[in-house]
Amino acid sequence: MKFTFVTLFSHIIKCYFEDSILKNAISKSLISIDFENPRDFTKNKHKKVDSPLIGGGAGMLMSSQPIADTIKSIKNIDKQAYIIFLTPSGKPFKQNDAKRLAKKEHIVFVSGRYEGIDERVMEIYANELFSIGDYVLTGGELPSLILCDAISRNISGVLGNSSSLQEESFENILLEAPAFTKPNIFEKNCIIKEFLKGNHGKIATLKYDLSLLKTKYYRPDLYKKAKIRIKNEK
Ligand code: SAM
Repeated sequence: MKFTFVTLFSHIIKCYFEDSILKNAISKSLISIDFENPRDFTKNKHKKVDSPLIGGGAGMLMSSQPIADTIKSIKNIDKQAYIIFLTPSGKPFKQNDAKRLAKKEHIVFVSGRYEGIDERVMEIYANELFSIGDYVLTGGELPSLILCDAISRNISGVLGNSSSLQEESFENILLEAPAFTKPNIFEKNCIIKEFLKGNHGKIATLKYDLSLLKTKYYRPDLYKKAKIRIKNEK
């Protein structure tokens, strides 16, 4: 899978791939990353990529031309490149999107800055728009990285142990059950004894029950959905 980041600030993104799982994924050629800077495509003689809002409004907006020409140059080389814009107006990014997008061959993340991006360029060039939550950040670089990370984990071979994906939160609507490691007693808190007895059937049932309880406590919205699904499966 190739990821291309369209950004004015590639250095913010690059360092994320210099360690750990995604660094290994690059060295095993499971993923590759590339960067394009809209400033390299601007036709403005002062190399500007932004402009005041038409009709008034605070701040500056990223102009359509530099971004459109950046995307066209990427598409000239790879027609199949799948264009994703990061914007607070996009649909909320979910685990199912991460799984679905892991099957693509080339994803392009377009990061906005300032007051965002001229709406028309998104309407014309976006395959999808995503938001990472109902809050506003200064730029699309972190959201791009979040999508890239979540998608990469779902690419075969990226995680050392692929079974860890199956037990994770959201796989089954539910949150993952509480997890523990040594020591068995930490600040007078014991782990549940059943975990120590090695009966894998019992541990699986216990984990499922704990996962239900944890979801009910932390994410009642998901718990409601899970209950409906469990009822329908019966
Ligand atoms: N004026 C815009 C609005 O109110 O929707 C916000 C622009 S924001 C300051 C600049 C850029 O950060 C956006 O173009 C987008 O790329 C990124 N961004 C900010 N918050 C985001 C979020 N919750 N999800 C995805 N991208 C976000």
